[in-house]
Amino acid sequence: MFYAFLVILFIVFIAAIIIKQKTSESKGDSGENAVSKILGKTINGEKYIINDLLFETEPGKSCQIDHVLINPHGIWVIETKNYAGKIYGQDNQREWIQILAYGNEKNTFYNPVKQNSTHIYQLSKKLNVKKVFQNLVIFLPQADITDVNSDYVHYIDELPELVNKDTGVLLSSEKMEYFYNCLIDLKNTNIVSKSEHIENIYKMQEQLQQGICPRCGGKLVLRKSKNGLFYGCSNHPECKFTKKIS
Ligand SMILES: [Zn+2]
Repeated sequence: MFYAFLVILFIVFIAAIIIKQKTSESKGDSGENAVSKILGKTINGEKYIINDLLFETEPGKSCQIDHVLINPHGIWVIETKNYAGKIYGQDNQREWIQILAYGNEKNTFYNPVKQNSTHIYQLSKKLNVKKVFQNLVIFLPQADITDVNSDYVHYIDELPELVNKDTGVLLSSEKMEYFYNCLIDLKNTNIVSKSEHIENIYKMQEQLQQGICPRCGGKLVLRKSKNGLFYGCSNHPECKFTKKIS
């Protein structure tokens, strides 16, 4: 009788672990689905949408962008964060903070505005254009972003209004279509799989630990600024990669 109870307890325990894993896997996806639903479908001459744009930037390196919307106001590069809890962060901070469970759990994550800036840098290099990009980081309602200090970070319900506001950029329908075709071309000629992309991220972290610049392969050297010590690339100023010492 007692053993039967133990067996049942064990099964329940394993089931709970499996359910927890499954829900955290699909969380990111459901946030992206919610955003792509709002963005809608491509309407020729009006707006062009690419969801989950994954491409190789150079051998062994890749870039994954949740959503790209091209409309007359620019090329919107959108990063979706399906995080819960209270979020703290600023544009210039490398790490942002997530507080969960009434302050009992604290996680840090890489600044999504900086992450998205890197995406924009890659796109601007590939499209050979500047000043048309709009950086947007979207959180879902389960996050509290009232203490995030950034003009680029917004809630999902602000999205329809945001992408239709005047940005000072005005793209003709020919230009929009041209950029869209370039991105589709980029996606189809620089193919990389999801698992390769994840492998690339791990490889980059490994390189960092070995003192190799993940951007150009140069050597990382210790430098000093008014904010303290940091690692810079030996190929500076050509390569502007830096890493804070944590
Ligand atoms: Zn470098």
